Amino acid sequence: MSTIMEMSKTTRMIELEAQHGAHNYHPLPVVLHRGEGVYVWDIEGKRYYDFLSAYSAVNQGHCHPKITKALVHQAEQLALTSRAFYNSALGEYEQFITSYFGFDKVLPMNTGAEAVETAIKLCRKWAYEVKGIDENQAQIIVCEGNFHGRTTTIVSFSSDSDSNKNFGPYAPGFISIPYNDIEALKSALSQPNVAGFLVEPIQGEAGVYTPADDFIQKAHALCVSKGVLFIADEVQTGIARTGSLLAVCGNCSCENKCERQNTYSKPDILILGKALSGGVYPVSAVLADDEVMMVIKPGQHGSTFGGNPIAARVAQAALEVVYDEKLIQNARKLGEIFRQELNRIISENDLLTLVRGKGLLNAIVVNDSPESKTAWNICVALKNNGLLAKPTHGNIIRFAPPLVMTEEQLMECIAIIEKTITEFTK
Ligand SMILES: *Cc1c(COP(=O)(O)O)cnc(C)c1O
Repeated sequence: MSTIMEMSKTTRMIELEAQHGAHNYHPLPVVLHRGEGVYVWDIEGKRYYDFLSAYSAVNQGHCHPKITKALVHQAEQLALTSRAFYNSALGEYEQFITSYFGFDKVLPMNTGAEAVETAIKLCRKWAYEVKGIDENQAQIIVCEGNFHGRTTTIVSFSSDSDSNKNFGPYAPGFISIPYNDIEALKSALSQPNVAGFLVEPIQGEAGVYTPADDFIQKAHALCVSKGVLFIADEVQTGIARTGSLLAVCGNCSCENKCERQNTYSKPDILILGKALSGGVYPVSAVLADDEVMMVIKPGQHGSTFGGNPIAARVAQAALEVVYDEKLIQNARKLGEIFRQELNRIISENDLLTLVRGKGLLNAIVVNDSPESKTAWNICVALKNNGLLAKPTHGNIIRFAPPLVMTEEQLMECIAIIEKTITEFTK
């Protein structure tokens, strides 16, 4: 007779979630219990390389001591005041983050989706009050394959049926164009009442779709010429992940002098989340200059938790770590090694079609249909060999380790991937 006591801890934890939690995720069968740097340990004590980094939230590595210390210290002092009062951490953080990214103002929120919603609201208000579009007519151009979060408005302009089927009626005001298609953007921009272009510099969720090298620069220039806000969703690509501070920096790995680089396409609205806290706390932010940000007046937008003292201290520490530990340079260097090695593995094996990405945001495409279980099964095999990654859209596997990884660790991971792929074909 099988009782609950006889099950492994792993099975027990998975059973608990299955019985009592909504089934809105399909996790790999591993129950994580502890993390440090590039490693996580499961409840049985087995160690893994984390090659997802909580969808690029943990760029600074798990339980980074400096970030954890900021969290604990502030939690013991003052956690939440709401914005009904000032708090002694927020102003300093706002000064820090605006100078870090080179914008006049920041609007602090908590999750990525909230920050995207904030950007949409800002863009529309700017359209009516500064650009002069007739009320309720503003259109925002978005891209097919986008992922901007899970709210009702955001899923309204998703092209993924899992994301939006039976969640209608959908919010109007969005024009969808193919990604990485400058001609389509040109023609959409010639439609009336266009206020903004909302874009991911690399489409992470869609499978690390990496556009042409000059797509972002050209799109930015077109938006400037049309007086349309260029809105960059860097929730996943930002904060050193792609080998520059922001993916819109292009091939610039400078530290904080971005505006002087001709590869930099400065967004009118920049959306950040995920690694803004190093993954220890939900912190997101919208950055813009005064012409855009100052259209929002007291009482017109907000969040009970947005800008709370813990979030402010944690985000500041998380951003400091990026420069302290040269994560931009490391992501760039290791990314090149990773793609070079993966290309070698791919050339020796027909289980994989290609590798693509930038910095340490990469994906491999498995040589099988998106409906097949192959990518999932490869991820299970990788897990058994000590490396955690997750398929996205059926036959694509995203590889996004923490940026604090060393070259030696990366080579060990590549060996795990190679061994897994080679054995898998047998
Ligand atoms: C993850 C993500 C979001 C949503 O962030 P949440 O914190 O999950 O709401 C938005 N945009 C992009 C590009 C993302 O990767």
